[in-house]
Amino acid sequence: MDSGMRVDFNRPTYCGREDYHLSNCISSKHISGDGHYSRKCQEWFENRLRCHKALLTPSCTHALEMAAMLIGIEPEDEVIMPSYTFVSTANAFVLRGAKIVFVDIRPDTLNIDEKKIEEAISEKTKAIVPVHYAGVSSEMETIMQIADRYGLYVIEDAAQGIMSSYHNKELGTIAHIGAYSFHETKNFTSGGEGGLLIVNDEKFVDRAEIIREKGTNRSKFFRGLVDRYSWVDIGSSYLMNDLSAAYLWGQLEMAVEIQKKRMNSWNLYYEGLKELKSKGYIELPTIPQECKHNAHIFYIKLKDLESRTKLIEYLKERGILTLFHYVPLHSSQAGMRYGRFNGADIFTSKESERVLRLPMYYGLSAEDIEFVVENIKQFYEIGKG
Ligand SMILES: *Cc1c(COP(=O)(O)O)cnc(C)c1O
Repeated sequence: MDSGMRVDFNRPTYCGREDYHLSNCISSKHISGDGHYSRKCQEWFENRLRCHKALLTPSCTHALEMAAMLIGIEPEDEVIMPSYTFVSTANAFVLRGAKIVFVDIRPDTLNIDEKKIEEAISEKTKAIVPVHYAGVSSEMETIMQIADRYGLYVIEDAAQGIMSSYHNKELGTIAHIGAYSFHETKNFTSGGEGGLLIVNDEKFVDRAEIIREKGTNRSKFFRGLVDRYSWVDIGSSYLMNDLSAAYLWGQLEMAVEIQKKRMNSWNLYYEGLKELKSKGYIELPTIPQECKHNAHIFYIKLKDLESRTKLIEYLKERGILTLFHYVPLHSSQAGMRYGRFNGADIFTSKESERVLRLPMYYGLSAEDIEFVVENIKQFYEIGKG
């Protein structure tokens, strides 16, 4: 979307080789799912992630829906997750009839507070769904230990977590199942919409392929393991078309380069804004030592909602588009119907009103970052904050 601003908030990643792969895919006459490019991308992920299976999906939302089916979510099951997240984290489980139990976030990473998970567990609890906000990992060691102790599944919503790690393990590969997004707002895109289901627990592999192929054993048929395919389970159409995979391949080839540039932008913001942090005007992101992040989002935290509203307006007048998210799910209409907040909302609402995301995309120039930084500094110098 062209915002008409001097500095856009986001531009979909585009490297230049996507066109070539797209026309190659069209010429191949196989543009539906699991074609040449889908296999290339899936192999790339399976090698990198060392997971049992990586399956391209039409979106991360769909990958999360598959995860809910795979772990056998049934009506009245409870699923624990943060309230500070995108709607799909919850919707995927609500669609299977689950009740969502929201837990407060940590103010430093804005991820689920692992210390508040245990008190949210009941006999009905089936799974924990940590979200790795801004590509910075949740405290997975603690979360996996709790899950082990209570016999729960863990699904990582790693929509924002591609190329990030925790104790040198890629995000999305730590829990039983993980999910990535290739939406145009994420670091890598498959042409607008797309996702990946990451199967780490081997027992889910066969059924994941079946659910993805409309509940049929078509994947086995293609591999010559059965002589015909038929309806064997529930499922839906969860394949990414090969044109999207071709687009994505153009970016996976450039993965290192894309990440280098994004990290560079992130570091420029951090260096430029350090002074305002030390003066106590704003807070900057915290990256725990065991986490390597992917520069997915650069956010600052302001004093309060009023201060944020003023800064957004100030920057907009100067041609800079900044955004915030999320409306905490527990305070939204559907969230109240399908979930409940366990314990006290100490940080979720408060922090969500203070977060401001600065422009961030592949190809954002150093000059533009400098321009954004200078304008934020001015805002405070003239005493508006
Ligand atoms: C982007 C995002 C999603 C949804 O991804 P889609 O590919 O658009 O379905 C889910 N969860 C989180 C945390 C996200 O940031």
